[in-house]
Amino acid sequence: MPNLWHLDRAPASRSTREIAILGAGIAGCTAAAALAQRGFNVSVIDRHQTAGSEASGNNQGIVYPKLSPRDDFLPRINLAAIKIASTYYSPFWQQGIGRQCGIIVLPENNKVRNDFNLIGEQFSQQSDLVQLCNNQQLCQLSGIELQAEAGLYFPALGWLPPAQICQQLLAQHQIPLIQADIDRIVHSDDRWHLLAPDGQCSFSSESLVIANAYGCQQLEQTQFLPVTQLRGQISDLQANSATAALKTVICGAGYITPQHNDQHSFGATYNKGVFTTQVRREDHQVNLDHMSATDIGLAETIGPQDLDNMTGRANYRCTTKDYLPIVGAVPDVPQLMEDYAILRSDARATVSALGSYLPNLYINCGMGSRGLSYAPLTAEVLACEIAGEISDIEQDLRLAMHPARFIIRDLKKKRI
Ligand SMILES: Cc1cc2nc3c(=O)[nH]c(=O)nc-3n(C[C@H](O)[C@H](O)[C@H](O)COP(=O)(O)OP(=O)(O)OC[C@H]3O[C@@H](n4cnc5c(N)ncnc54)[C@H](O)[C@@H]3O)c2cc1C
Repeated sequence: MPNLWHLDRAPASRSTREIAILGAGIAGCTAAAALAQRGFNVSVIDRHQTAGSEASGNNQGIVYPKLSPRDDFLPRINLAAIKIASTYYSPFWQQGIGRQCGIIVLPENNKVRNDFNLIGEQFSQQSDLVQLCNNQQLCQLSGIELQAEAGLYFPALGWLPPAQICQQLLAQHQIPLIQADIDRIVHSDDRWHLLAPDGQCSFSSESLVIANAYGCQQLEQTQFLPVTQLRGQISDLQANSATAALKTVICGAGYITPQHNDQHSFGATYNKGVFTTQVRREDHQVNLDHMSATDIGLAETIGPQDLDNMTGRANYRCTTKDYLPIVGAVPDVPQLMEDYAILRSDARATVSALGSYLPNLYINCGMGSRGLSYAPLTAEVLACEIAGEISDIEQDLRLAMHPARFIIRDLKKKRI
């Protein structure tokens, strides 16, 4: 029998349906909406006055697809995520918020090209989801002269302005946004207290969802999570008659969106160990290089740019070691390690104890470069767990995203 570390041996009872969410990015706001829909009384707390002010603040974010012919967790979770996301964002697209313009993904090398052929075969009966296209079809769909011989086309995906989605989700469900910078959280009298740097309690609630991205590493209860604060920059491109012809998002080494208000967004950089949100000239060059690496025809359409006068936006992703998001109950790490210590000497040992979790404390983070794709899925997983509903998402996928997975994995590998 598999070990049941994901089940709480002493589930905390809940006397109210009040829940606080720390973080008003796409992870926090989708979770807030999913809980409000289930009748929870939700409040969102963020250090900014407006939702979507940090990573979820780009003008045009894309719902990025990442499939593979292999049966791994990453492509399976991505497949589940993009299916949910295309339905989830449909009402926004219908209102003219963002565009369901379709996304073309071009292969970065021959190995990926072979994978695309296999994906084309595997999904040949699901053309509403993905289609393998030749050069002529790609040029027709995108509206520009691409050089790529083949690529994948996802007709039901597109781009969105994430901050507007965040704000609309809160407004739709009348969820208040409370501005407070939270330094730590403490549990007393069956409530979670969110404390400001001066020790004052900014807010308290019976249940709490941590959705403050890489900020979870500053909280004692979640600092065990192996997340990284990874800077990225996108560049803006003033549309001209050649680029304005672009009808779809194009992805490859980088991505570019169709114009909106005469501007395209393209990028993005990955700057490990760089901690500034200042837009940097050298990163515009990296983004232009990404366009050339994506497709020479695309780079020629964009044409030369004056790096000194380019604008853009930089912020931080919250990435995980296994590139999967983190969603679920927050484990009581010392207790879980004690109960499952035998895994260090026998990774296959059966442990009779269930898992141990902190009372009514949850997390939803680690969205990496795919927050728009993952957030509707993880919000649903989280809301089902908190509301005690059965989720449609397969159990092995849920466990692959579970916060306690790192402890179990590290015990088995004798890393802790
Ligand atoms: C350059 C760039 C381009 C990207 N492009 C895409 C794209 O095209 N498509 C895509 O899907 N993803 C993209 N991403 C990734 C995407 O932006 C993230 O995955 C997503 O926004 C993460 O959402 P989040 O809610 O987890 O984090 P955030 O949006 O960062 O939200 C976290 C919130 O928590 C708040 N917070 C943190 N700590 C505290 C604290 N102590 N007290 C109070 N409040 C706190 C912050 O103010 C913030 O509002 C890109 C990222 C970058 C950097």
